[in-house]
Amino acid sequence: MNNYGIDIWGDDNFIIKDGKVCLKYGCEPAIIDIVNTLQDDGYKGPLILRFKHLIKKQIEQIYKSFNKAIKEFEYEGSFNAVYPLKVNQYPGFVKNLVKLGKNLNYGLEAGSKAELLLAMAYNNENSPITVNGFKDKELITMGFIAAEMGHKITLTIEGINELEMIIKTAKERFKVKPNIGLRVRLHSLGSGIWAKSGGINSKFGLNSTELIEAVGLLKENDLLDCFTMIHFHIGSQIHEIHPLKKALSEAGNIYVELRKMGANSLKNINLGGGLAIEYSQFEKSPQRNYTLSEYANDIVFILKTIAGQKNEKEPNIYIESGRFVSANHAVLIAPVLELFSQEYSESKLKLKDKNPQLIDELCDLYKNIKPANAVEYMHDSCDHLDSVLTLFDLGYVDLQDRSNAEILVHLIGKKAISMLSAKHLLRTQKEVQERYLVNFSMFQSLPDFWGLGQEFPIMPLDRLDKNPTQSASIWDITCDSDGEISFDANKRPLFLHDVDVEKEDYFLGFFLVGAYQEVLGMKHNLFTHPTQICIDVNEKGYEIESIIESQSIRDILEDLDYDVREIDEILKERIENSKLIDDRSKKQILGELFIFIHDNGYLKNI
Ligand SMILES: *Cc1c(COP(=O)(O)O)cnc(C)c1O
Repeated sequence: MNNYGIDIWGDDNFIIKDGKVCLKYGCEPAIIDIVNTLQDDGYKGPLILRFKHLIKKQIEQIYKSFNKAIKEFEYEGSFNAVYPLKVNQYPGFVKNLVKLGKNLNYGLEAGSKAELLLAMAYNNENSPITVNGFKDKELITMGFIAAEMGHKITLTIEGINELEMIIKTAKERFKVKPNIGLRVRLHSLGSGIWAKSGGINSKFGLNSTELIEAVGLLKENDLLDCFTMIHFHIGSQIHEIHPLKKALSEAGNIYVELRKMGANSLKNINLGGGLAIEYSQFEKSPQRNYTLSEYANDIVFILKTIAGQKNEKEPNIYIESGRFVSANHAVLIAPVLELFSQEYSESKLKLKDKNPQLIDELCDLYKNIKPANAVEYMHDSCDHLDSVLTLFDLGYVDLQDRSNAEILVHLIGKKAISMLSAKHLLRTQKEVQERYLVNFSMFQSLPDFWGLGQEFPIMPLDRLDKNPTQSASIWDITCDSDGEISFDANKRPLFLHDVDVEKEDYFLGFFLVGAYQEVLGMKHNLFTHPTQICIDVNEKGYEIESIIESQSIRDILEDLDYDVREIDEILKERIENSKLIDDRSKKQILGELFIFIHDNGYLKNI
């Protein structure tokens, strides 16, 4: 039996019951039952399921942990959080998040004009907006408009030139002004694969000299009252707490220094994001060495200590956690289309009356394999196959012999697996791994696996009461050999079930895909974003709140700026001009093509 590490990465959100993975919430529905209902309604191909209660859980956990720490340490500053839109801008997520965070004044962070526009439209009244990233006059003007509309907005500047633009804009506009934040360039570095945002050579922020210059400029231009926040962000998925603590001490000291220079309105420290989640499915490689409550306690304690030492006001804390809030709400579900070794069934064996000796020997191995000799026989069979292939190249055996040899070796491998213990299985995986063709695009749905090797928990949605025997490689449906999650006995020994997908469905769930993956996804081979379904689980059952269907082929082509009407016309004309079929049949094929074009491009075998 295998729980696919659910106790490591699952954060108590999922539970296995009767062999099915279920949500550990409300009436605890099985994910496979939800998926079957959706399939019956015609939603084939990959699906993104979004669970509202998981969004709520993450938001509430953050506030609860910080407010607890604040109470415990008798901290005088407040706790505030904003959600960085870049992590997942899809409406099914953002609109729910805004609703669920309303009573906590949970705000939004924007890093571009489009994101700022979303924040201006959807952010709750009285919730903060922060704006990071490089800015031009237009983006700064949008920030002023947001303030003029009544938003509590802070524009964090990344360089002196941005401050100069703000000063100029302030002179041109109305009395209302946005708050100003300064991003500080810390000496401290983050860790992990996303650590590039921190450090003295980072892309962002002001160094000490520039900070002094900025305060001078603000003072000169009568804008020092607007300067309320300093900001830093040392990278995403921070594996260890230590670099964060170091960065925070540095930022805390910058905060007190700036206040001592007369920045009396400066009362907020914004720590950016970076709060990690546990992606690891295999105990050996945990991805973070701290918990949320440790993170909250450390932050409150460090800031309290620094403010106390320097006799300054304890700053309000802002965080911009994105991954932590969004990763676990989304599960990608993808149907398995094919197991490659299933082509090698006993029924396909076409032995001759007289076979080459090597084939007879393979038959003997297949007949006589036992647990005690399984590994040895499997190795022998692989050697035999090598020899048969050499003989084929030299013209001594024919294609039928070669086919028989390939089938026998696969059958021997399969028989051996069923006889071996888990320990042996791992060692022999190379010879016997099974390839699962799965109806999804890695480039669209798991870009961080493709680009950075980031792993995501993968498990079947049912059959969890049966032993998975196949060491599994996962192939997506793109025509790109990179679209593969290969079996790795050391790092990710993934085992799946031996199923006959001609006769029964087999679905895989890819978990923790709610952060970054969706919007980073690429349209490689023109596979588009899967159909998204928002689900509200409650005590009585579950409700499907909204379905946003995967883009049609026509829409994708339009996204690439093709004139789709022109394509319609050309196809129509070409069919009409065809001399190979009659007029009635032309109408029929035009109709068929029309249906395909208005549907998405994923495979529909199941
Ligand atoms: C990306 C980013 C975040 C979010 O980081 P997570 O690791 O997803 O929490 C927060 N703040 C800034 C400035 C960012 O660039």
